[in-house]
Amino acid sequence: MRAHVVTFGCQMNEYDTHAIQSELAGIGYSFVEDYHDADLVLVNTCAVRGKPVEKANTFLGELRKVKQQRGNLTIGLMGCLAQLPEGQRMGRKFNVDIMLGPGAITEIVPAIEKGRFQSFEFKSELQFYSPPPPQGAVTANLTIMRGCNHRCTYCIVPATRGDEVSRPAADILAEARSLQDAGVVEVTLLGQNVNSYGLDAGTGTRRKSLAGYPSFGELLRMVGRVGIPRLRFVTSHPINFDDEIIEAIADTPAVCRYIHLPVQSGSNRVLKRMAREYTREYYLDRVRRIRELLPDATLTTDIIVGFPGETEEDFQETLTLYNEVEYDAAYMFNYSEREGTPAAIHFDDIAKAAKTERLTRLIELSKQVSLKQNQKWVGREVEVLIKGASDEEGFAQGHTRGNHVVMMEGSPAPGIHQALVIHATPNRLYCRLSGAAATTQMLKSRSLPVLQTNLVQ
Ligand code: SAM
Ligand code: SF4
Repeated sequence: MRAHVVTFGCQMNEYDTHAIQSELAGIGYSFVEDYHDADLVLVNTCAVRGKPVEKANTFLGELRKVKQQRGNLTIGLMGCLAQLPEGQRMGRKFNVDIMLGPGAITEIVPAIEKGRFQSFEFKSELQFYSPPPPQGAVTANLTIMRGCNHRCTYCIVPATRGDEVSRPAADILAEARSLQDAGVVEVTLLGQNVNSYGLDAGTGTRRKSLAGYPSFGELLRMVGRVGIPRLRFVTSHPINFDDEIIEAIADTPAVCRYIHLPVQSGSNRVLKRMAREYTREYYLDRVRRIRELLPDATLTTDIIVGFPGETEEDFQETLTLYNEVEYDAAYMFNYSEREGTPAAIHFDDIAKAAKTERLTRLIELSKQVSLKQNQKWVGREVEVLIKGASDEEGFAQGHTRGNHVVMMEGSPAPGIHQALVIHATPNRLYCRLSGAAATTQMLKSRSLPVLQTNLVQ
């Protein structure tokens, strides 16, 4: 039995794909690179923006053709898109056999046994599910909470992933230990809003901890003591990014000084229409506290450009905020209308050309700011986790504790190395192993490419 599993979307989908593959391996499946060779193809989808939905649509069309030619192919649509009316229409159109929402992935084995099956439940067993560690990996993800209690007006996630549910701390610690035993040196704690971990129902700043759960700050300290060299977390919602969390990061050596804090817009008027629950001033106060306690921390963000009703003035406020914070990098998106969200129901989308024109300006600014930030690292020693070969000849690829993409001269083995930063571009730090013979000449004589690694859709 041969399976092919495709993942569209975020790290949480990658984690779920790993869990699905582990379940399939448990019932005797092997995995093939080419879906033409598979008996079972599962598509784990994202629905946050239109682009990943289009990708899933195109791929399902191809699978339908293979199925029509061969007859014996089982197709499964899983994840966020499967949960939505839009995905269910696609499932019917492309004659999909298995449809499982993101809360029902634990039903994959019975679904395959039945051959045709669908479930859109949020199964309580998922809260207590731990996948086995990945084999031979140096980095791994660890989901600590699922779902989202917020209701940002543009966002489909509350409809696809349901309300927040946190996993028990003991299970998280056990999973972290098993990752460490498997040789993982960097673990990323995942959640739609990791810093809502262990909080009771609702939103805002006054939520209490659930009985028996540590706060997110306490959890960071607990996982930090396991002994894994690097610990990361994404994503944090600004409203619950409290001082306790910043202090826990400062006090816990394993926790990388990398904070991804999506702002979405610099304009209070737009933030209000987005229902983000904070103001520009509140957000900047969080940044101020981060800079005070973690002066070397990398700070990145998500920004949506062209939200309905965004004026040039509103957009200018995003640009001034960007300049004020001096982000190291950003994921910048054109607003993408999602069926059924409050923004799609109540607001009119603005012209695509206007969105793209603003996005281009924002990307230009981000490149300038990133270059300035990256140049601060030239001449300094950094710790680099090498993952393998890079797309540039003569360099291996890795990343610093601050999550800067690193091009390391030579071909050092996967793992953690000390290095000297010798050159910076907006998206990369070029490094040499500490103690290695100087080959700066080689770098000076080449014209270094400026690669855009910020995600743009
Ligand atoms: N929970 C995190 C937060 O609130 O900061 C973010 C999770 S969301 C899945 C990831 C990012 O997708 C968001 O930060 C936002 O920038 C982007 N996003 C969500 N809905 C979008 C939409 N309709 N159009 C464009 N970007 C969107
Ligand atoms: Fe979406 Fe907002 Fe929840 Fe983030 S906090 S997942 S943007 S609804």
